[in-house]
Amino acid sequence: MAAEQTSRFTVTRNSQAVAADQRALLLEDPGFGRLFTDHMVTIRYTEGQGWHSHKVEPRAPFQLDPACAVLHYAQEIFEGMKAYRLEDGSIAMFRPEENARRFAESAERMAMPAIPEELFMEAVEQLVKIDADWIPGGEGSLYLRPFLFASEAFLGVRPSNEYIFCVIASPAGAYFKGGKKAVTLWVSDHYTRAARGGTGAAKCGGNYAASLVAQKEAIQHGCDQVVFLDAAENKWVEELGGMNVFFVMDDGSIITPPLGTILPGITRNSIITLARAKGIDVREELYSFAQWREDATSGRMREAFACGTAAVVTAIGTVKSTGGDFTIGNGDGGLVTESLRAELTGIQRGAVADPAGWVHMV
Ligand SMILES: *Cc1c(COP(=O)(O)O)cnc(C)c1O
Repeated sequence: MAAEQTSRFTVTRNSQAVAADQRALLLEDPGFGRLFTDHMVTIRYTEGQGWHSHKVEPRAPFQLDPACAVLHYAQEIFEGMKAYRLEDGSIAMFRPEENARRFAESAERMAMPAIPEELFMEAVEQLVKIDADWIPGGEGSLYLRPFLFASEAFLGVRPSNEYIFCVIASPAGAYFKGGKKAVTLWVSDHYTRAARGGTGAAKCGGNYAASLVAQKEAIQHGCDQVVFLDAAENKWVEELGGMNVFFVMDDGSIITPPLGTILPGITRNSIITLARAKGIDVREELYSFAQWREDATSGRMREAFACGTAAVVTAIGTVKSTGGDFTIGNGDGGLVTESLRAELTGIQRGAVADPAGWVHMV
């Protein structure tokens, strides 16, 4: 395979790339997270040397020493972002600089080296460009997964001296095949996601590992997702395993839990900005599960929704817990949820004006 040098990256094209007709077939129903493109980006980090060996290369398994630090102590962070194919054939990303910034913040929390934001951006763009033919049209998108993990072979407990940064890409179909459906949530009684001083605000694999048993419990109770309460008092609503939450009240105002132990979602921040621009009163304040039940039952709460890059905005229908179930509104979302979803996806896909300059052309 011939390698060429573009900028600081050495590019090696995949000589066994999926053929165009086969790719078109796969893109008809990509699902989520199970289909991958032909290439990946890797950059190595070595203490004392910094970032080096920048590569765009055929997607392939890593060879890891069994003592590789990430396999033992989970020193790992990731991001999730999307590239879209616009009507005119051009390619756009949504606020990727925010992912770059959050990635550096997650790295700092996990005692890892922060990759310079412009290098993160260049890595992601290199992959989007070389695998551009994998971006689905219509309502699909190319989901990008940058991640960084400790790669030193050493069993002592301290931050690793070696890391691998990698970006892979996975074509994703329309998230809601066969129509949008409100999700049912399970409120976890005894499992929490994040405590003050912990890693709740960092996008690290360990948070997800800790959430899986609660998610399993949610499924066992016939729910789609788990919603976590705070670790200190087991009282305040925090977020889902991988999405932030919003509550729409009957006076038109919106409440969302404040930052701190929750993940600072870019979708969350965008929704707050869009809603405030419409003149909606958005309050970032503590909101208890007991209040949620009371407000949903009395009708004071009209709608509730969850948001994140993967599913964008999803209505919350019913909430189940050991203390009983309750339904929000008619159990199927509402006008505020729907209009915020339409506006956000419209901006992301270049169909709605973008006054804040959130759309980044590749
Ligand atoms: C990634 C993530 C979100 C959503 O963040 P976005 O930037 O909107 O995609 C919310 N909660 C958790 C725990 C997450 O990991």
